[in-house]
Amino acid sequence: MSDPVLAQQTDICVKCGLCLPYCPTYQKTRDENESPRGRLSLIQGWARDELKATPKLNAHVDNCLLCRACESVCPAYVPYGQIVDHFRSVTYHQNREGSLSLRLKKTLMRGVLTGATLAPMAGQVMGGVAASAVKTLACLAGAGEMAAGLPTAYSRPLPSPGSYPSTTRAETARASLFLGCTAELLDRETVISAMAVMNHLGIRVDIPERQTCCGALHQHAGDASSAAKRIEQNLTAFADSDAPAIVSLASGCGVMLGEYGQTAPSVSAQGFSRRVRDISQFLAEQTWPADLAFKPLPTTACLHSPCSLKNVLRADRHAATLLGRIPGLKVIALPAQVHCCGAGGSYLVDHPEMAAELRDDVLDRIDGSQSSVLLTSNPGCAMHLRAGLKQRGLGAIEVLHPVTLLARQLA
Ligand code: SF4
Ligand code: SF4
Repeated sequence: MSDPVLAQQTDICVKCGLCLPYCPTYQKTRDENESPRGRLSLIQGWARDELKATPKLNAHVDNCLLCRACESVCPAYVPYGQIVDHFRSVTYHQNREGSLSLRLKKTLMRGVLTGATLAPMAGQVMGGVAASAVKTLACLAGAGEMAAGLPTAYSRPLPSPGSYPSTTRAETARASLFLGCTAELLDRETVISAMAVMNHLGIRVDIPERQTCCGALHQHAGDASSAAKRIEQNLTAFADSDAPAIVSLASGCGVMLGEYGQTAPSVSAQGFSRRVRDISQFLAEQTWPADLAFKPLPTTACLHSPCSLKNVLRADRHAATLLGRIPGLKVIALPAQVHCCGAGGSYLVDHPEMAAELRDDVLDRIDGSQSSVLLTSNPGCAMHLRAGLKQRGLGAIEVLHPVTLLARQLA
């Protein structure tokens, strides 16, 4: 048997097909091989030595967005994300389809997206210079459209590592902030906004030094050893802070951090994962002082729930609750039937056509919503959707993290 663990895990699937209507790639292709049940059967066949990991078989598994919508509805609790990550890691060096240039592009983009970790916390140096370097590299990697989705340069630098007590009220709670490579480099306004809101709630924020990329892009691409190095570094970095919560701003990173305990089982990894909270959930769980007010904002905002937040963290309700504190703001949530936007980590680079097709469905809804702002909790989704809005001539719709809008409206 090629892999007894995968054989046992894929056996849990009873082939009921209840996940099929929720799978974006199946809905687009109507091909069973592009469905959760089909992919699980292919992996099962390989694990039992009944099928070879041919380029075709691997491609069907690689076409999965890892949106995990299937996992969220599966009555048998098949650990679909774990199965795909494991399969990709054990077949990492085998029979991957695609030209050398596509592989180079993937590697370069992973390096670009996570390269911020090469200069951790160098907020003052980053920003304009780093953002334009990312744009240049992204264009060189043939992902110019992705570069179009980068946010406009934000002038304030990232805070340095350290401990930041609240300057507005007595301490009510403590949090350790995970910056992540994409949020650090591409979304500094979100970091500064989150700190501002926590400051107003009386929360002391620790920013541990030496933290690094969460490792999700490596993990989902099958590069388990690169992911493991990042996990180890973050476990060490966050051991320095005894804050009860580790707050993540990007929901995609939040999923990875929350699953360190199962990716690298150890007591410290499990303890780390138990502390992880998405920023919206963490803020919603706090006691809000009666005198904390927001300026009115008479406009309509469209709220996009990333798959990571909705399907895995199951924390998508909190952003709407928080935004309800802004007087005059009308929040329109995208309907639950709207599938993944197609960003999927590096999916937008690896599978640009499917990524654009899926994004179109989301953009159609946004276009019809008369919104002036699009709110999303994942920087990858923000980048992908922003690029699409610009392409449609809807670049005036500003794309923000919900916490940024909250911070802008602090009275
Ligand atoms: S993955 Fe779950 S929902 Fe999908 S076919 Fe298997 S058992 Fe059914
Ligand atoms: S993770 Fe998403 S794309 Fe992959 S099989 Fe499940 S529903 Fe389909």
